[in-house]
Amino acid sequence: MAAISFRDVIKRYGKGRQELQVIHGVNAEIGDGEFVVIVGPSGCGKSTLLRMVAGLEEISSGQIAIGGRVVNDIEPAERDIAMVFQNYALYPHMTVFDNMAYGLKIRKMPPGEIRKRVDDAARILELGHLLDRKPRQLSGGQRQRVAMGRAIVRQPQVFLFDEPLSNLDAKLRAQTRIEIQKLHRELGITSLFVTHDQVEAMTLAQRMLVMNAGRMEQFGTPEEVYREPATTFVASFIGSPPMNLLKGAPGTKPGTVTGIRPEHLDIGEHGWEVRVETVELLGAERLIYGRLGDEHIIVRTEEGQPAPANDSMIRVRPREGRLHQFDATTGRRV
Ligand code: ADP
Ligand code: MG
Repeated sequence: MAAISFRDVIKRYGKGRQELQVIHGVNAEIGDGEFVVIVGPSGCGKSTLLRMVAGLEEISSGQIAIGGRVVNDIEPAERDIAMVFQNYALYPHMTVFDNMAYGLKIRKMPPGEIRKRVDDAARILELGHLLDRKPRQLSGGQRQRVAMGRAIVRQPQVFLFDEPLSNLDAKLRAQTRIEIQKLHRELGITSLFVTHDQVEAMTLAQRMLVMNAGRMEQFGTPEEVYREPATTFVASFIGSPPMNLLKGAPGTKPGTVTGIRPEHLDIGEHGWEVRVETVELLGAERLIYGRLGDEHIIVRTEEGQPAPANDSMIRVRPREGRLHQFDATTGRRV
């Protein structure tokens, strides 16, 4: 196991006039044994950051250290990491056993040790009865478990996951999330997990690193990021539906934006006057889409509460201590 540290990490692709900087100086310390999720929209640089840890991309400037050792100039194979990708990249002609054993065989590990490691991983991942099958005889979820098994048998210092659940359907994704958490509890290996899905990030992360356009916007526990988003970007990216960001609500100072989550607005006799535009029932909850002056606002209520009619006026009041203030220019929390 090992800590990972990012010091002023910058990445540029291309040369000369083609040069494009995509990571703009990331600083972060990941603890030994910690499970950290890197989350952000498509194209923000998540894979690039992970691939620099793996050694698949050169670090343009700054340093990455694994277990206290700067790895900038160390070959991928010498970094003691294992990576799991979105497309499982299994060998179609090999059995599950051989797929998991392959990396150990090319490292010339004795067959007895290989057998033991594969059997152990297969037990943890409940793949024991599938070891003789070929990948095409497996479901998507089982293939993903084989891909994880192949990483586990290496017993690396660090696991790197790049959107490993994106090809699975919603139910299987939820299930596999729980398995990954279990795996981490059991093995305790430092893990960096990349996703664009904020629900996945919230549920898996011990801490999450939120990225936007090549910059780190916030690094904290899911609770911290949800309760105290550092920027308007984080406020609108984490949480669904997103936080309301209002310029015109009563009490908003010029040059600032008031944030309030849809679940922290209560309908009642007093408060801001909102015209109802649409109401959606999502099962346990109801979302009310409306206008506060000329701004859009979303209110979230429980299914048991009465639904207001379209075009009616309601009053909503922010809960005590749940308002956020951001600088309108920089987007940073004030
Ligand atoms: P993410 O994984 O968050 O979707 P990436 O790390 O793949 O984002 O990409 C970040 C940015 O770098 C994107 O703008 C992408 O187009 C660019 N990029 C990624 N790989 C290369 C490459 N090999 N050459 C040039 N630009 C690249
Ligand atoms: Mg990516």
